[in-house]
Amino acid sequence: MKRLKLTIIMIVLIIGVTSIVDAKLRVVVSYNYIADIVKRIGGDEVKVTPLSKGYKDPHFITPRPSFIAKMRKADLLIINGGQLEIGWIPPILKKANNPQINPGNKGFLDLFSFIEGIDVPKDISRAHGDVHPDGNPHFHLDPENILIVSRAIKDKLIELNLSKKEIFIKNYEEFSEMWKKKMADWRKLLEKFSGKNVVQYHKNFDYFLKRFNMKQLGTLEPVPGIPPSTKHVLEMIDIINNKGAEFIIHDVYHMKKPSQFVNRKTNVKLVVLPHDVGAVNEVTDIVSLFDEIIRRLLK
Ligand SMILES: [Zn+2]
Repeated sequence: MKRLKLTIIMIVLIIGVTSIVDAKLRVVVSYNYIADIVKRIGGDEVKVTPLSKGYKDPHFITPRPSFIAKMRKADLLIINGGQLEIGWIPPILKKANNPQINPGNKGFLDLFSFIEGIDVPKDISRAHGDVHPDGNPHFHLDPENILIVSRAIKDKLIELNLSKKEIFIKNYEEFSEMWKKKMADWRKLLEKFSGKNVVQYHKNFDYFLKRFNMKQLGTLEPVPGIPPSTKHVLEMIDIINNKGAEFIIHDVYHMKKPSQFVNRKTNVKLVVLPHDVGAVNEVTDIVSLFDEIIRRLLK
């Protein structure tokens, strides 16, 4: 009987220890593009849960009660940052009551903090309604920035699970090598647009345009997050007709009417571009996100 008891205790101990060793890191992320990078670097050692859907306006995700449960069980929360999640992450983070994943703690990672931001304000007085108060948060549409944040994610995964360090480093190195090859291809494909003028509806693609040397004439939104006024749209049409432009870039979630109007008045090509994994059917991961953006520009 004593031996049986001892055997049972041993089995329970072994199962317990094994489950601790084999436990996957539970990573909750705000957007799908982050989920894909975490999966590629974390591999089988992580369980990744993205909160929002890729076809939604990333500024205005509706928080759901299920987000709270997901955050409560998480070991790590990774956000885009730059105030992109300001309207929806803080309230659910508070309700989740999981101190480990709060800003400043080990289980929290803000990707924008690793990036050299565009339009970062010198002072805090910003025009009313600007949804980019800390600078432009859409940095991930510059593929160079994907390399920067994937390194930060690799370092964070190592910090949280040192025993899997070699795996995370190997996955990261394979990813960055593949990514650099893809970037060389994309650069070549976009060479023909270098120096060309572009108009956007929202300032989604500033980092992308800067990386590939395209010039932004302006946006149809007078201020990020403020819908176009007739006066502003007519001014943009004048600018386009004077200077010429290659594209009007529109996103998948805003009404297309203003961009369609400008397209009719100027004959400049209107392209709807995905901004995240899942924004359109063709975009199933971070690689196809850029493949599809470039395919649509070249079409
Ligand atoms: Zn924005």
